[in-house]
Amino acid sequence: MDARHLSDRLIKVAKFVLKDARLADIGSDHAYLPAYLAINKIISYAVAGEVAKGPYENAVTEINTERLDHMIMPRLANGLKAIKMDDNIDTITIAGMGGPLIRDIFNADLEKLAGVRRLIIQPNVGQELIREWLMNHSYQIIDEDIVEDDHHVYEIIVAEKVSNKVGYSSLDLKYGPNLRIEQNEVFKSKWQHQMAKKREVLKHFAAANEVPIDKKKVLEIDIKEIEEMLK
Ligand code: SAM
Repeated sequence: MDARHLSDRLIKVAKFVLKDARLADIGSDHAYLPAYLAINKIISYAVAGEVAKGPYENAVTEINTERLDHMIMPRLANGLKAIKMDDNIDTITIAGMGGPLIRDIFNADLEKLAGVRRLIIQPNVGQELIREWLMNHSYQIIDEDIVEDDHHVYEIIVAEKVSNKVGYSSLDLKYGPNLRIEQNEVFKSKWQHQMAKKREVLKHFAAANEVPIDKKKVLEIDIKEIEEMLK
């Protein structure tokens, strides 16, 4: 992979960045995403924030190789601390980290979100927690996608700041308000797989001498919920 050949996962993230955006890509190992967006004339400016020295140096190399140092600023910094007020960032991408880490990155520097209109988040795990955070901070989920890349399934959540209160049901938070309505093939396959795994555990319970009643109940409820949701 390089800035001219992104993974399917990062291509999906990239497609949600609006023309002329001023982007901060946080956790920007190699700066592949902002470099791709600059090469394709989507963004007008970017910060590539990285907390670790090695990935930061990768980002510097990629930016210099592509001669993009006039529009992509690599910054060695923790989370949103990479963003300066005069960057006038309006879009943030955070991809390839766990939901809890992404939430902590937002919570650590909430004031940096002041002028940001759009968040594009691709949590590897903990999607529910991210949707809950968005709801509690008045971000409306305006789009979602789900993609299979290299035998992993990734969800992408796009949210915009709104002035009203945002409310999501527990089903929306767990499965995604857009994803659970659209139910594309990747989504169906993900949840069918989850359901099959839960059924397998139930089978083991059935063969066991002592059955953990509470765990069995939770599994049965989960399976029923997924069945209903996929109908
Ligand atoms: N965003 C790229 C992608 O999706 O392919 C890279 C993902 S890589 C798995 C996660 C990157 O986030 C690593 O380079 C790591 O150093 C960086 N990272 C982790 N915590 C961070 C933080 N608090 N602030 C900035 N970068 C962070």
